[in-house]
Amino acid sequence: MSFRADLFNPSEEHLALRQMVREFAEREVEPQAAASDRDERFNLPLFRKLGDLGLLGITCGEDVGGSGLDAVAAVIAHEELSAVDPGFALAYLAHAILFVNNLDRNGSADQRARFLPGACSGAKVGGMCMSEPGAGTDVLGMRTSARRDGDDWLLTGQKMWITNGAISDDELGDIFLVYARPEGGDRGTISMFVVEKGMPGFRLGQKLKDKLGTRASSTAELVFDDCRVPSRNVVGHGGDAMGHMMRNLELERLTLAAMSLGIARRSIEVMNRYADERQSFGKPLRAFGQIQRHIAESYAEWMAGRSYVYQVAGALDLGSSGNRVDSDGVKLYCATMAKNVADRAIQVLGGFGYVGEYTVERLWRDAKLLEIGGGTLEAHQKNITRDLTGVHTLR
Ligand SMILES: Cc1cc2nc3c(=O)[nH]c(=O)nc-3n(C[C@H](O)[C@H](O)[C@H](O)COP(=O)(O)OP(=O)(O)OC[C@H]3O[C@@H](n4cnc5c(N)ncnc54)[C@H](O)[C@@H]3O)c2cc1C
Repeated sequence: MSFRADLFNPSEEHLALRQMVREFAEREVEPQAAASDRDERFNLPLFRKLGDLGLLGITCGEDVGGSGLDAVAAVIAHEELSAVDPGFALAYLAHAILFVNNLDRNGSADQRARFLPGACSGAKVGGMCMSEPGAGTDVLGMRTSARRDGDDWLLTGQKMWITNGAISDDELGDIFLVYARPEGGDRGTISMFVVEKGMPGFRLGQKLKDKLGTRASSTAELVFDDCRVPSRNVVGHGGDAMGHMMRNLELERLTLAAMSLGIARRSIEVMNRYADERQSFGKPLRAFGQIQRHIAESYAEWMAGRSYVYQVAGALDLGSSGNRVDSDGVKLYCATMAKNVADRAIQVLGGFGYVGEYTVERLWRDAKLLEIGGGTLEAHQKNITRDLTGVHTLR
C-alpha cells in the first residue's frame, strides 16, 4: 500500500474505501434509516448489498470470499455506516466482526471453507452468542452447557441480547458462534460451536421489542434445548475458546468505538449547519458563546476520539491479541463522547432537535447502546485499571 500522511486514510485504498462506503451509505442507507428505526425493522435486502460491496467479509481471508483488509478498513466501514444509521451498522458489526472475523481467525480450514463464503456474500446472516439472561459482564459465569453424545455435542441453555438472532419478528437468523461450557469444565473452560438454523433443538426464544435505540438491528433471545451439534463444528480445541473471545473482543470494541465516531461526526454536521441557518435575536445561533461551546467542545472531543481510534486501529494485528487496554480505552472514551455530542446537537437545535426530522434524537438513542453493548463502561474501567496494575511509567 502507498503511504499517505493521513491518520484517518493511511493509504489510497483506505481513502477509496471510505468514499465508496460513504457514497453507498448516503445513497442507500440514509433514505431507509428513519423508517427502519420507527418500525424496528432489520433491512435484510439492504444488508445483502453489503456483501456485493465486499464489506461483509472485510477482514476475512480472500481465499474464502473475504476482502482481506485490516483493522483501519473495518473502522472506516463502521464509522461511515454509523454516520447515517447506527442500528444498521450494529447489525453489520455483529455479522462482519463477531461472526466472520472471529471464525476466520479461529476456525479450521474445513470450517472456514464451509461457512465463510456464504457469510461473506450475504447469503447467510451471522451473529455471536456470548451473553445470557444471568451473565453479561460476568461472562465466564455463563450457564449454557455442552454435553458429549457420541460424535455430537448437545447444547443446553439460553443466550440473550443476540444481534442478528432474528431476521424478522418470528424468523431465526442463519448462523452463529455460540460459547458454552463443556461438562465438567471450570470457570475458564469455554468452547465455541458453529450453530446453524435448522439444527434440532435450536430455536428463536423471542425477538426483543421496544429497544431505546439501534432499532434497525434485531436483538433476540435464542434457546438451545439439547441442540445437537456435530463435532466438526467445534471451533478450536474444545475448552480453549476464552482466547478466541478475548482476541475478537478487541476488534469488536474498536469497531463499536468507530460507530461512535460516525454518530459524533453527523451530530456535529447537523448542529454546525443549524447554527448558521437559525436566527435568534437577529443573529445566527453561532454568534452566541454558549452555542460556540457546544460546537467547539464537540469538535475537539470528536477529533480526540478519532485520533485515538485510528492510532489503535493502525497498530492492531488482527492475528494476535494484546491491545486490550486501548481497545477498552477507545470504547470507554468514544461511547460517552458520542452520546454527549449528540446531546449537545439536540440542545443546539432546541425543539427541532427533539423530533426525528433532524436525525440527532435517533443518534442520541443509538449512542446509548455503545455504553452497554460489547462491554459496559464499568467493565472497561475495571479492565483498564486491572491492566495498569504496577505500570508506573507510561511510554
Ligand atoms: C442492543 C444490544 C445488542 C447486543 N448484542 C449482543 C450480541 O450480539 N451478542 C452477545 O453475546 N451479547 C450482546 N449484547 C449483550 C451485552 O454485551 C451485555 O448487555 C453487556 O455485556 C452487559 O451485560 P448485562 O446486560 O447482563 O448487564 P450486567 O452485567 O448485569 O450489568 C448491569 C450493571 O452492573 C454493572 N456491573 C456488573 N458487574 C460489575 C462489576 N464487577 N463492577 C462494576 N459494575 C458492574 C454493569 O456495568 C451494568 O451497569 C447486546 C446488548 C444489547 C443491549
